[in-house]
Amino acid sequence: MLVHSQEHMEGPFNQLIIRGVTLINGNGAPPMGPVDISVENNKITGVHNVGYPGVEINESARPKLKDGGKELDATGMYLLPGFIDMHGHIGGKAQGATPEYVFKLWMAHGVTTVREVGGPGIEWTQDLQKKIENKEMAGPRIISYTVFGNGSEKPITTPEEAREWVRKNADAGADGIKFFGAAPGIMKAALEENARLGKGSAMHHAQLSVGRWNVLNSAKAGLTSMEHWYGLPEALFDDKTVQHYPLDYNYQNEQHRFAEAGKLWAQATEPGSEHWNQTMDTLLALDFTLDPTFNIYEASRDLMRARRAEWHETYTLPSLWKFYQPSKISHGSYWHYWGTEEEVAWRENFRIWMQFVNDYKNRGGRVTTGSDSGFIFQLYGFAYVRELELLREAGFHPLEVIRAATLNGAEAIGMEDKLGTVEPGKLADFVIVEENPLQNFKVLYGTGAIKLTEDNEVVRVGGVKYTIKDGIIYDSKGLLNEVEQMVEKAKEEEDFRITQPGMD
Ligand SMILES: [Zn+2]
Repeated sequence: MLVHSQEHMEGPFNQLIIRGVTLINGNGAPPMGPVDISVENNKITGVHNVGYPGVEINESARPKLKDGGKELDATGMYLLPGFIDMHGHIGGKAQGATPEYVFKLWMAHGVTTVREVGGPGIEWTQDLQKKIENKEMAGPRIISYTVFGNGSEKPITTPEEAREWVRKNADAGADGIKFFGAAPGIMKAALEENARLGKGSAMHHAQLSVGRWNVLNSAKAGLTSMEHWYGLPEALFDDKTVQHYPLDYNYQNEQHRFAEAGKLWAQATEPGSEHWNQTMDTLLALDFTLDPTFNIYEASRDLMRARRAEWHETYTLPSLWKFYQPSKISHGSYWHYWGTEEEVAWRENFRIWMQFVNDYKNRGGRVTTGSDSGFIFQLYGFAYVRELELLREAGFHPLEVIRAATLNGAEAIGMEDKLGTVEPGKLADFVIVEENPLQNFKVLYGTGAIKLTEDNEVVRVGGVKYTIKDGIIYDSKGLLNEVEQMVEKAKEEEDFRITQPGMD
């Protein structure tokens, strides 16, 4: 048994029994408890019903602890499958965020699996995967998608070159590809080859290519999932083929890019129209996955909320804070002059977008949970919890939100036999929290939820208590404390404090 107390991790154990917990599963089942959950090494071996709410537990129904086994008393707590973040970036040079910082924030929020959609390269990611596997560092399971063309010496200009790159990427051990767009012939060749190899794919349909290739084209050619929302309104145009770009628009101007994007859903066909329904039916028939990442656009509809989030002071690195500031250069720092008009347009954009996503879910479509943190004032881990709240706002029942965060993600990465629900035979990935997250997702934030006691005292409740991955128990609050120290140290070195734009 390996124990790294400095990393706040313990295990795995030849036997682990989690006692007396209420299970909120990832398959849409209602909560159930108390149960005891038994684990051997990294696998779930049993979910044992041990009684009824408010009744003393039937000790004879409980699994027995073996020699060398570990008991975790979770009486009165809630347990969920480990969260899957379908859109992660492991820090970044421009952000000054190291993998260690990012991983701790993710793990502290119960994120045990991350689909990395574009990083420096597959070898860099594989090196991190090895370190995590050897328990040299705390971190999630990483599913690695390489940006299309990454590592290629010259631009990919023919379908044959596209197919060759796709084969090389698979041979290098990548799990899939992240696309931003290319000419139709190249997109088609790359997607078909990737599908033939049984690999996953994700696409951000960037405006530069979306005029000829939208979500419908991608899905028909074999794309397995779309990121964000770009490419969907374009598939829903009735009376145009490109969006209403103002004639002085420049894609390199971030204010143009994000302000005009906020008017895009209003340019699509009416919700519920024949075109709307047909598009949805086509995507449903292709078993296509939507990964909306609502949170990463939230600053567009309410900049002050994202900018003043209460966790920035304690957990946001100085380098990351600087990256978020209004700039003509940093991606997503589009605050050249972000005002009432932009925010109102974006609220309408969200309303229609959320309606599409909720309709898609109601008709049997797969919707997943992704964060895309490290941009636009969204912090790793915290932003994932915000995404849960936004799925709720889109109309999902809290249990549907949890399914999007767990089983749907597992299906989308082809790991539903190992992840996504708590059942015997699957990997032991859990989130344990002292409050009921279905009643209030805010209890999952590292900063907890605000509550008034009977005695009129204001307290904080929740914050993930334990994150368990592959049978290893992580003290989530301990990890968060390490992040706090990293941030304090960075601030001391630079004599830095967080100030608001233009006010220092
Ligand atoms: Zn991204």
